[in-house]
Amino acid sequence: MTSSPGSLPPIRVVSPATGELLAEVPDEGEAGVARAVEAARAAAPAWEALGLAGRAEALKRWRDAILDDAEVIRTLVAESGKLRPEAEGIEILYLCELIRFTIGAARKALREETRNPFLFVTKKTRLVRRPLGVVGVIGPWNFPILNNAADAVGPLLVGNTVVLKPSEVTPLTSLRLAELWRRAANPADVFQVVTGRGAAGAALVERVDGVMFTGSVATGRKVAARAGERLVPCVTELGGKSPFVVLASANLERAAEAAAWSSFVHSGQACIRTERIYVVEAVANRFEELLSGRVRALRQGPSDPLSGEGHDLGAATFPRQLETVERHLADALGKGARVAAGGKRRTELGGNFFEPTLLLGATQEMAVMREETFGPLVAVMRVRDAEEALRLGNDSHLGLNATVFGAPAEARAFARQLESGQVIVNDVLVNYLVVEAPLGGWKQSGLGVRHGIEGVRQWTRTQAITVRRPLLAPIERLIAKFLAFPYDARVLSVLRRAMRLLYRRGLSAKLRRPPGDRRP
Ligand code: NDP
Repeated sequence: MTSSPGSLPPIRVVSPATGELLAEVPDEGEAGVARAVEAARAAAPAWEALGLAGRAEALKRWRDAILDDAEVIRTLVAESGKLRPEAEGIEILYLCELIRFTIGAARKALREETRNPFLFVTKKTRLVRRPLGVVGVIGPWNFPILNNAADAVGPLLVGNTVVLKPSEVTPLTSLRLAELWRRAANPADVFQVVTGRGAAGAALVERVDGVMFTGSVATGRKVAARAGERLVPCVTELGGKSPFVVLASANLERAAEAAAWSSFVHSGQACIRTERIYVVEAVANRFEELLSGRVRALRQGPSDPLSGEGHDLGAATFPRQLETVERHLADALGKGARVAAGGKRRTELGGNFFEPTLLLGATQEMAVMREETFGPLVAVMRVRDAEEALRLGNDSHLGLNATVFGAPAEARAFARQLESGQVIVNDVLVNYLVVEAPLGGWKQSGLGVRHGIEGVRQWTRTQAITVRRPLLAPIERLIAKFLAFPYDARVLSVLRRAMRLLYRRGLSAKLRRPPGDRRP
């Protein structure tokens, strides 16, 4: 990797597991973003003209190159601190599945259709879908593929070119993916990665024709505000505070197993992870016992994140995230919660390691139950019944994802009352891989969706082209009199009667003379 030739200091990418410097990359800043967007704009017409089949072929070549590349896994594991099973089993799997689905979804999203008007029967309207132009993707550090390059797939397939600005914390995987894009014989300017800090992200929002942003609520608000001022479409996928509800009818073994995984996958740094757990009093003792046992059994360590053998948790990607964990832990302990597992940093391991930590006896006013923790800490609160679980589950400014465990009919009914863009019943997290369904947050968890046909078509703009049906030209001359100069009182009178016939309910009322009509 090269260091920055420009005025901005280079970005140092450090291994979360060992603290070792992995690489320095340039902060390309506003100038780099401007160059990339200009090149992407120039490349856009040819990319659109290639057609969906040609674009799909390019995406498949890219996917094959990624699947054949050992370096991409190494890079992903090294810069994120996640274990290999999470790198391959979540991120690479997701990208492959997303490309598979989106090729079909793009076909539907781009399909032209004809709309036949009721009123202007002489016309027909053709809906044509065109790409927006250049889409800017801005991603967070926790999933260097899933919420970064993967978000380029939909925009690219419907004919946009893409400039991606990954997080400064984990830019190396994105750079590798851009290299694989080029090696797959794909046009370099169609998918570009620009490395930089927040200001580079802001510069991207200034220039592109559409924005896909994943990150914190605070930054998402700024990005959406600026996109709003520029009047360009913007999708924001922001934070989560996902509740996990255990009803009295739940299978407790399965619920405990799912709660452990969904709380501590990638050390708790996932937007849809379990952030807070509510268990109904009647089954709380047994559930807490099962969950405590599972969390205490988790194996954490850096020894060989690439092999993935022997460990369940890697390092936390972003050192500052552990400060949030410690703040939430101290706040909860000060308010009466108790530690059932974990509870401290593991400095002896050398990197950003914090024990998977389970708190019991939480109450709703604790920060751990209200603010996004986004790290290896989760708390359990006991509730009287399902009604209280619902009230507290919905008591959040965020609404990204939720989980409920219980007898199927009861859990399904409960799910419908949760204020959350996604709910999964008797399972966890795998709903992110259901790419057929739109996924987006309610409340302050964001606006717009990824996935589903909805998440693909939004990267197009619709052009409605209205033409005359040739055979109906004579009728059209009659209709045209209503909406043309010179205005004529007799024509207006005919129009009034016609409106009554078309829209007024009741036959006798239809036939009655319109009010104010004095003509015979
Ligand atoms: P941030 O909001 O800090 O950063 C996200 C991206 O925005 C980074 O690339 C960052 O660059 C860039 N950025 C920073 N400032 C600006 C700006 N003014 N204009 C444009 N871009 C800017 O989020 P994190 O990286 O800390 O990610 C964690 C958050 O992401 C959590 O809240 C998590 O819940 C959320 N998330 C949401 C998901 C969802 O699907 N809803 C999925 C995954 C995560 P840089 O890093 O270089 O500062």
